[in-house]
Amino acid sequence: MKTYETDVLVIGGGGAATASTIAAHDAGARTMMAVKGRFGVPGVRGAGATSNPKADFWTIRTVGPKGGWFNPPDETWQDMCQIGLGTADAGLCRIFVDEVSDAIKRLRSMGMRFQSKMLATMPATKESKGTNNIVQIQKAVIEGTKTEVIEYANVTDILVDDGRCMGAVGVTDFGEPFVVRAGAVVLATGGVGQLFQYSFNPPGNTGDGYAMALRAGAELFNMEFMQQGIATTWPTQAMVMLYEMPEPYKMFNRQGKDFVKDYLPEGVSVVEVSNLKAWHWPVSCRDASIHLDRAIHGEAVAGRGTDNDAIFLDLSGARRGFQPEVFEEYMTSVGIDLGRDLLQIQVHHHTSNGGVRIDHDAQSRVVGLFACGESAGWQGADRLGGTMLGGSQVFGWRAGTKAAAVAKDRPQRDLRPDELDHALLGTFRRAQESRGTTRPGELLKPLQREMWKRLLVERDAEQLAAARACVEQQRDRLASDLCIAEPFDLALFYEQRNLLDVADAIIAAATMRTESRGSHYRSDYPVRDDENWMTNLFISRDERGLNLRKQWVNQDVGFTDVGKIRIMPWG
Ligand SMILES: Cc1cc2nc3c(=O)[nH]c(=O)nc-3n(C[C@H](O)[C@H](O)[C@H](O)COP(=O)(O)OP(=O)(O)OC[C@H]3O[C@@H](n4cnc5c(N)ncnc54)[C@H](O)[C@@H]3O)c2cc1C
Repeated sequence: MKTYETDVLVIGGGGAATASTIAAHDAGARTMMAVKGRFGVPGVRGAGATSNPKADFWTIRTVGPKGGWFNPPDETWQDMCQIGLGTADAGLCRIFVDEVSDAIKRLRSMGMRFQSKMLATMPATKESKGTNNIVQIQKAVIEGTKTEVIEYANVTDILVDDGRCMGAVGVTDFGEPFVVRAGAVVLATGGVGQLFQYSFNPPGNTGDGYAMALRAGAELFNMEFMQQGIATTWPTQAMVMLYEMPEPYKMFNRQGKDFVKDYLPEGVSVVEVSNLKAWHWPVSCRDASIHLDRAIHGEAVAGRGTDNDAIFLDLSGARRGFQPEVFEEYMTSVGIDLGRDLLQIQVHHHTSNGGVRIDHDAQSRVVGLFACGESAGWQGADRLGGTMLGGSQVFGWRAGTKAAAVAKDRPQRDLRPDELDHALLGTFRRAQESRGTTRPGELLKPLQREMWKRLLVERDAEQLAAARACVEQQRDRLASDLCIAEPFDLALFYEQRNLLDVADAIIAAATMRTESRGSHYRSDYPVRDDENWMTNLFISRDERGLNLRKQWVNQDVGFTDVGKIRIMPWG
């Protein structure tokens, strides 16, 4: 079996991975990256959300001195706590606010060009195929270091000995197992968008970091919170920027019915939800605008959408917002004239707000195991736009720097055969020898459909139980009827296993939280309940299964409910 050795292993090829690799290298460590698919090639498996060509512009939220061009620090921090409705980690948000300007400066010094100082926006261009180019810029820096990059490398588990991370194991797309012995490991594996039929995340974002961290003994946090946004489902997928539209939105189901009002609670109007959505699309669901998402999603689930699972949106005559020309050009190139044609839109998973519980150095509770970017949990029930790309840089940098220090005093010893068996070879052999009929890839679409229907926009006890039953049924099929017909099936088998593990964690947290808060909307508990639920939910795992721990938010720090958010949350 191929065995590698390094100080710091970074898993992933998105913006968090590139930032932490550079930081670890600068701190004097030997560095290695393991990337699923290709590294830094937009739009392919392995590209990650950072390089996914779906947006017409990208934003990093800037923070700077009060009175200048930037978002003022204290207000930004308070707004991050506000929008998280008490569940964002106030300490980590403070670090973001204090360090995002340095992260932007570092990107500039590497050659990044931003369009606006105020928002650090990166307009996507035809040349960049709709992606920002953070990864391209940092990849060029990494190429100037001695970092070894292994591509087509699917890391499957973390090696742990006595609460300390020793490296990782995995399998290549060609079915070859490998081991990386490392003094520290950084999970930069992105989110779990691929759990849902409609998502902005590219293939490969299957929540591997969350699942591996759980199995390694780390905790997850805030897994029930995910942002969602609206995009076209036909003839291609593209994010639809809904702000600056004439309100109320003109939306119809396949029978031409204007349906939104059917989903609104008493006293809430179509104009109100449209205005709210326009104000903070796509990244916040904290207010009545969630009902617009419920309406769009609900019509499709009820079979009143188009053949493409969509509802119609009339954008003709709309005064569109920032950078509209990229979206318009993109639509024109696929034959859609916004002045004439109706768009077919649906709610998509956008980002996962929770993730691996980290400390201020981005380290999990397993010594030497770090997480950053969308793998890490620090955001709350909702999040401010522009904080994910910036956060990937801030915590990526912190993770890489500390990982380099931790790696220096790693224990020097060879892995025992039983450790390798436990971590990889056991499941690997069982999978290879299985003689069933179900190829792992066949399970993906049915799982995505069920999870999009039951887990993303709106939840209730019945839907959650059905989601859990689907996960259990798929788990049984993987265990009893698996067929590995070609080497790549092995990688898909591990991905499916991870998707099921993460689905379990999300379902467990969403079931336990019997209230609605931000992006977590329970139709059987539609009201926010601070008396019982001003808490975070931490998830860990032992041989008996998942353990959920409810921890009260420290209300002295960060969150005081003033209701309003001052800073525009979109982006
Ligand atoms: C269309 C779109 C627009 C967005 N716009 C904004 C914005 O304007 N502002 C903002 O702040 N945020 C935005 N976001 C969110 C933000 O882009 C992501 O949260 C962020 O890029 C995540 O970076 P990351 O490095 O953590 O993960 P990713 O970029 O997703 O990278 C994860 C990497 O890990 C690899 N990987 C996964 N599992 C494994 C494994 N087992 N082994 C090896 N490699 C693995 C993947 O292949 C990938 O290379 C947007 C997201 C999308 C999709």
